Amino acid sequence: MSHSTPILPASLEVIVRDWLSANHILLKSALGNVLIDTGYVSDAPRTLRLVEAALAGETLARIVNTHVHSDHVGGNAALQQRYGCPIAVPEGETRALAQWDERELLLEYSGQSSARFEFTEVLHAGQHYPWGDLDWLALAAPGHDMGALVFFERSLGLLISGDALWEHGFGFVMPPSIDPRCLKATRATLEMLAQLPIKAVLPGHGRPFTEPAAALERCFKRLEAFEQDETRLARHALRVVLTFALLGARRMTLTDLPNYLDRIGIYREFNARFFGWSAQALADWLVMELEKSGVARREDGELVAVQGDG
Ligand SMILES: [Zn+2]
Repeated sequence: MSHSTPILPASLEVIVRDWLSANHILLKSALGNVLIDTGYVSDAPRTLRLVEAALAGETLARIVNTHVHSDHVGGNAALQQRYGCPIAVPEGETRALAQWDERELLLEYSGQSSARFEFTEVLHAGQHYPWGDLDWLALAAPGHDMGALVFFERSLGLLISGDALWEHGFGFVMPPSIDPRCLKATRATLEMLAQLPIKAVLPGHGRPFTEPAAALERCFKRLEAFEQDETRLARHALRVVLTFALLGARRMTLTDLPNYLDRIGIYREFNARFFGWSAQALADWLVMELEKSGVARREDGELVAVQGDG
């Protein structure tokens, strides 16, 4: 696969992470350094080290989140404790955060955890933010997360896309029978992005990339398949969520897996609604799928995460 790496302004640094922790984007300015997204909670010590190195002795003035999934906000509490800085979140996320709604935040519901934090500022779609001495326009990007924002810098054509647009796809979306809004919103968001004069995308996962049109075309193809068959979306979501859990745990005991799947809301609810399998059958299918996609292998009665670069 050929990659052309975008040339980015000196005030902007992308710290590329993996699929457990979302990338961090550091926007430096004499007016204050801003960090966008903070990784998964279990990675917080490494996040602190990476951010400290990127700051090169300077301090952090603000944490910003594109959306509130656990792999984007997990370092908020630790970073705020370290730098004493405000945390700014999208307006559409404030209710779920204020109530610490474990389902809406996809925490307990998908077997994930986070460190609770208090946001201190609210970001609004349609407003401009001067991070890194650039002019970022916040745009609503609902779908994968209904409260998500993306940030667009028109003069350079840069898009900070969170999980709304990756080089190969987008963050998993709730099937219509679980939440009727999400898939429709995903289409609207992709159509909105297709109208922007984007030159380079700084995604929540994976390396920054150019050729946004090709990425959007892949997203529309995937979206159409999901629109035609929501069980495809359900299967995709469960694969993604279990892959994430395995990346966090590194290994899971195979004989415990059916119990685990029965305990965690998203697997139980999706299985009842879309498949109607036994927990064992769901476990067998998921193990096969994860092995097939190369993210896991079986070893001595355990399912073991295979390190890749995503
Ligand atoms: Zn996400």
